[in-house]
Amino acid sequence: MSGGVERAPLGSLNVTFLGTASAQPSSTRNHSALSLRLGGDVWLFDCGEATQHQLQKSTVKMGKIEKIFITHTHGDHIFGLIPLMASLLNGSGGTTDGSEDPRLHVDTKTATLEIYGPLGTRAYVRNGLAYTHTNLGASYVVHELRLDSDPQGDDFTAISHLPAECTFGRNIQQVNGCWTDIYKDSIVSVSAAPILHSVPCVGFVITEAPVPGKIDPSKYVPALKRTKTPMSAMRQLQQGEDVVLADGTILHGPPRRDGRKVVILGDTYDPSPIAGLAEDADLLIHEATNAHLPGIDANTKDTDTYKVVEARTKSRGHSTPQMAGAFAKRIRTGRLILNHFSARYPGDDSENSKAIMNAIGGLAAAQYGQDVVCATDLMSVEISFRDK
Ligand SMILES: [Zn+2]
Ligand SMILES: [Zn+2]
Repeated sequence: MSGGVERAPLGSLNVTFLGTASAQPSSTRNHSALSLRLGGDVWLFDCGEATQHQLQKSTVKMGKIEKIFITHTHGDHIFGLIPLMASLLNGSGGTTDGSEDPRLHVDTKTATLEIYGPLGTRAYVRNGLAYTHTNLGASYVVHELRLDSDPQGDDFTAISHLPAECTFGRNIQQVNGCWTDIYKDSIVSVSAAPILHSVPCVGFVITEAPVPGKIDPSKYVPALKRTKTPMSAMRQLQQGEDVVLADGTILHGPPRRDGRKVVILGDTYDPSPIAGLAEDADLLIHEATNAHLPGIDANTKDTDTYKVVEARTKSRGHSTPQMAGAFAKRIRTGRLILNHFSARYPGDDSENSKAIMNAIGGLAAAQYGQDVVCATDLMSVEISFRDK
């Protein structure tokens, strides 16, 4: 844990969707990945095939990636991780005999890139790098979120640490069903919990620490002037501190308000285990892989009903828009954005595609009780403070 790490206040908190497809990528939707920009720093959540290309098309700076969180090890969420690491960490395919490769002597006391994921993430990365003879020029570490039913020790692979892999990767055990504060610094913390899918899968909750409250200068300036207190006292008040004036009066700064909270789920047919951690989020990102759209989607089978589609969707470990909307309502999130759409819903600019995506959003909104946005690739949203 990095509890002692100082981070500058965030200012902007931004989500950019880099890939919004399930199963098969298309020309309009890439495999899963999204970036969370914390001020200037970048965290990635999932890293499907060609995430590098999507980063290049976006305004997200690849060189600013600090951490990558993997929800589960299905290929559409992780196939892009090793090539991205090779670019980010200056990888190379080795040197011929007699030439020294400095990449074989990487300083691994600290990690340039931190990766978090379920059991198998570390082994996948290590084996992928080893068998492709990829030597990295900077260090990385993999922390794994181990389920109670997982083996709690070892690395799940016979290959031992590579020259660029830090040896302090943790195997984080569940406590009361969750992984609390898997990362924490002075400004943000990350917790996680399992969510139900066809394979072990994790959802992440990112929470900003309380921020200074809104200050009303008219409440303070007359007293400061009366006692000839320097106006710089306003800075202390803005931080929520008390200021004692020359005449003994004590001014109290406005109380701090809750920071922002973002919930990023992986694939799921039931995210109930994360409901407690996710409550009152400002933004929930939830998958909606399949929908029943009679009269709107021409491919709808005559024999299908909503119940049939829901059962089929759940059997593959996924959700319908209605399921996503119901969960959003249950945790009282301020905003819901859907992602991870079937290749049947390309989300292009055609009237037909627009009607389908509108209908998907509408089905979720009917359960949630508020408008719902369906993500498109490279869509970017700013997360603002919510008056709770
Ligand atoms: Zn998926
Ligand atoms: Zn999956």
